[in-house]
Amino acid sequence: MTIRQLELEVMRYDPEKDEAPWFQNYSVPCEEDWAILDAINYVKENIDTTLSYRWSCHMMVCGSCGMMVNGEPSLTCKTFIRDLPDKVRIEPLENFPIERDLVVVLDDVMQKLHKVQPYIIRKDAPPQDKEFKQSPGALEKFKQYTMCINCMCCYAACPQYGLNQNFIGPAALALAHRYNLDSRDQGKSQRLDILADHDGVWDCSFVGACSEVCPKHVDPAAAIQQMKIDGAMEWWKQKLGFPGGES
Ligand code: SF4
Ligand code: SF4
Repeated sequence: MTIRQLELEVMRYDPEKDEAPWFQNYSVPCEEDWAILDAINYVKENIDTTLSYRWSCHMMVCGSCGMMVNGEPSLTCKTFIRDLPDKVRIEPLENFPIERDLVVVLDDVMQKLHKVQPYIIRKDAPPQDKEFKQSPGALEKFKQYTMCINCMCCYAACPQYGLNQNFIGPAALALAHRYNLDSRDQGKSQRLDILADHDGVWDCSFVGACSEVCPKHVDPAAAIQQMKIDGAMEWWKQKLGFPGGES
């Protein structure tokens, strides 16, 4: 078993005691196949039990271990030390208030995920004792956008969210697109009122940083650009008096 000594520089902050965040150094003996989350867990278990951070599954499913690793929003269970230098700086996700140490407050994005109406909306009555059938091809249209694990790395990378916290932001907009593309849904025009509003898709400057950091390849930037096109087409349809159509 190869051991590599990693110097971790970890941001600490206890709002009840500290005036400002500060950094603490830990020297961690790592195995070569460790993810950075393993190194943080080593600190917690062997060096400093007071360190606070979130994690749960260690298999890229729960989305709770998102942190800044050397300045990059990263899922720490998917970021391997073999790809990092000997000195690594760990900070809480950018653009969020700090709850304590590496734990951030996510209330704002939770409200945004709810705001985009992320569920099937039907205008007609659901068929009695019947299922809404969907072909594999129809599923394929939105499947990519179902892969989001709410790690919030995209919000930490998004310059527009950093400037304007009212911007709905990448993951919530990608989630809205997922339902807009669902063949069982009839809520696209209803959602458009929210998505095309001031803080919706038009606030996105298409930097694409959200898609670059996404550990699940959801590609929120593409979803947002597609919704801009949909929004513009819907606007012209209404202007020209065409009936709006839901799939
Ligand atoms: S593409 Fe849009 S949502 Fe994604 S990081 Fe850039 S501004 Fe933010
Ligand atoms: S879109 Fe990607 S980066 Fe954003 S919350 Fe979902 S999984 Fe994380």
